[in-house]
Amino acid sequence: MDCLFCKIVEGTIPSKKVYENEDVMAFHDIEPAAPVHVLIIPKKHIATINDVAEEDAILVGRIYAAAREIARELGIAEDGYRLINNCNADGGQVVYHLHVHLLGGQKLGPLLA
Ligand code: C5P
Repeated sequence: MDCLFCKIVEGTIPSKKVYENEDVMAFHDIEPAAPVHVLIIPKKHIATINDVAEEDAILVGRIYAAAREIARELGIAEDGYRLINNCNADGGQVVYHLHVHLLGGQKLGPLLA
């Protein structure tokens, strides 16, 4: 499958990995929009949040558990952070492999600014 993030999971495209377990990995975004900008993805290919099945409920929970751990490890848990999941064209999705943006390291502006 010609998916950029599947290739990052396989290691055929390099990434600055910050977290990995059996189901989930996370790496620094190549165009950071904040001092901390990490993408958290399932290893399983799921194109968008619209494609999440009932059987993926635990997997989605693990993405959020990873966010909690990464925020703690990167020292932004107490000050706070934002999680964003863009879906399809109007949501601004560019890469069609489910990912959650973890943004922090500064006081973030209004959501739609
Ligand atoms: O949510 P959306 O699909 O717009 O976000 C995709 C993100 O993937 C962008 O923030 C982009 O900078 C990032 N990206 C990356 N490494 C790549 C290609 C895209 O971190 N090789």
